[in-house]
Amino acid sequence: MKPSTQTLGTLLIANRGEIACRIIRTARAMGIRSVAIYSEADANARHVHEADLAIPLGGSKPADSYLQIDKVVAAALACGADAVHPGYGFLSENATFARRLAHEGILFLGPPAEAIEAMGSKSAAKALMEQAGVPLVPGYHDQAQDLQTFVDAAQRIGYPVLLKAAAGGGGKGMKVAESAAQLGPALDSARREALAAFGGGHMLVEKYLAAPRHVEIQVFADGHGHCLYLHERDCSIQRRHQKVLEEAPAPGLDASLRRAMGEAAVRAAQAIGYVGAGTVEFLLDGDARFYFMEMNTRLQVEHPVTEAITGLDLVAWQIRVARGEALPLTQEQVPLLGHAIEVRLYAEDPAGGFLPASGQLALYREPAAGPGRRVDSAVREGDTISPFYDPMIAKLIAWGETREEARLRLLAMLGETAVGGIKSNLALLQRILATPAFAQGEVDTGFIERHTPALLPTPPTLTQAFWQSAARAYLRSTPNSVCEQDRHSPWSAPTGWRLLAPAQATLDLRCGAHSQLCTVSLATPPADLDEPRLVGRRGDVVYLQWRGDPYEVSQVDALSAGTAGAALEGSLAAPMNGSIVRLLVGPGQVVEQGDGLVVLEAMKMEHTVRANRAGVIQALCCEEGQMVSEGTVLIEMQEADHAA
Ligand code: ADP
Repeated sequence: MKPSTQTLGTLLIANRGEIACRIIRTARAMGIRSVAIYSEADANARHVHEADLAIPLGGSKPADSYLQIDKVVAAALACGADAVHPGYGFLSENATFARRLAHEGILFLGPPAEAIEAMGSKSAAKALMEQAGVPLVPGYHDQAQDLQTFVDAAQRIGYPVLLKAAAGGGGKGMKVAESAAQLGPALDSARREALAAFGGGHMLVEKYLAAPRHVEIQVFADGHGHCLYLHERDCSIQRRHQKVLEEAPAPGLDASLRRAMGEAAVRAAQAIGYVGAGTVEFLLDGDARFYFMEMNTRLQVEHPVTEAITGLDLVAWQIRVARGEALPLTQEQVPLLGHAIEVRLYAEDPAGGFLPASGQLALYREPAAGPGRRVDSAVREGDTISPFYDPMIAKLIAWGETREEARLRLLAMLGETAVGGIKSNLALLQRILATPAFAQGEVDTGFIERHTPALLPTPPTLTQAFWQSAARAYLRSTPNSVCEQDRHSPWSAPTGWRLLAPAQATLDLRCGAHSQLCTVSLATPPADLDEPRLVGRRGDVVYLQWRGDPYEVSQVDALSAGTAGAALEGSLAAPMNGSIVRLLVGPGQVVEQGDGLVVLEAMKMEHTVRANRAGVIQALCCEEGQMVSEGTVLIEMQEADHAA
């Protein structure tokens, strides 16, 4: 059949961040005009500057901006867009949006609305896949939703079980229950999360496999009945059931299993009349058995590793397929070259339960791109990571002839990366890549948990040597304020040089909750190899790296020091912006270290704030339903030894 091609001169990108910038790049390379849309919070974002045209949506919360179908369609009509690329997240898997665009005669760079709907519910998708002969994890995914049904199903499947929201995504609405006693509370919590995030509380339950691998297949179908698999990605390195590192091909996967999984994925896509780029996710157990988990009907965050090993541009393919062109390759012709690994650099706090972080990127440096190196990002130093959107800062992708070459290259790239002013998972990513088990390809979804001592070591006590070299770094990087006019005068050198006096200075420094009065001699050379490394200085803050972790050192502000200290002692503050879902304790209650005190909902997920020590609750400073900002005192507590 001769493909009927359609003109595509203007592309509106209904997304933000790195994926918007990445789509703009391909559009530009294909001579297509790109149009960005943006919320108020994104008025100065990189995707806005990089597009040929940018249209404001107003609002900042996704619900007021990127999720507003009316506004996005109006923007597409206003700029005369021939097509809309939805990226991932937001409206990418919204069948109503796809239909609205079709109604307006605008191409949607995604599958037909019916295919989105078929895979939109994890329960319905499972029922469909069962019919198509694709293997499923043992579980229950039917209509009845009462507790007894779930108790019976869990009993039949055997504990532990995993509760999932049918409408789920991003790990939201997902809870493990280890026993019948945990099932009720887990179901309630997961359902609450699902209702908040997706507006629907329909749940399913399945066997919780012990440390499986997450292996997914990239599929691509054209409008002429041709569907290919572009091999697999291993996305087993996860925290909170969400990916942080992905690679292609999957370590140790043999060709016959690759073909079996690829063919099952193509069957899944064909069962729903799929067109365009999609991903079929499987769990793979230790006995090489694989089970369908879900299909994502869009481009995935981790698509660059597939591009790296196939040499294909998946966004260009999406555009060609939408124009009506046929796929240019047969299954046998799909390349598989070398190995690629991607890491997701997130603004989050790995030591604090991976809570998302927001704030200003006071210091930001990304590695150079080049042969075998790719950086997909959309931020610059000074930008704010907003609490409204996904806290991903950048994706770093390395390709190599071998997995080891890719691993070392990615480690080098991370070594060139710097993030300051906001917590990030940079050190964790470096440690994952450096772990011998990772180097050996021993990956599964339990990896981070199993290697926690090595990946998230207890922070060392700050040594005298640390403070000494921090003080030296601080002085050396202090811009001179006394004799700025005469840069050649010895008085203006930041070395502490004084006539007939030893070159020394005294500084009152603060690093996190610690402070120290340091007298340093600048003449002294670095004491030992354990010296912190100066990463950079911005304003009054010096950014150091020591034993693999980032440290921020500044001078104690004598005026504010007292009050800041007082506010922290004996109280528990909100670790992030969010709303109070539930208070788990009352005044006078005795709590142990680790006990849950408050459930906070942020970024559509529930986080339990726990007691950092044993003590007695003195006062509750918040109420259920209240919005709180990061740092707000939630609970006042008296330590156990003080209370005794
Ligand atoms: P979401 O759509 O919210 O991201 P998924 O269903 O894709 O949720 O699952 C996310 C991750 O959770 C998987 O990659 C895997 O690590 C883990 N997971 C999901 N189902 C199971 C299961 N039945 N057993 C063990 N782990 C699972």
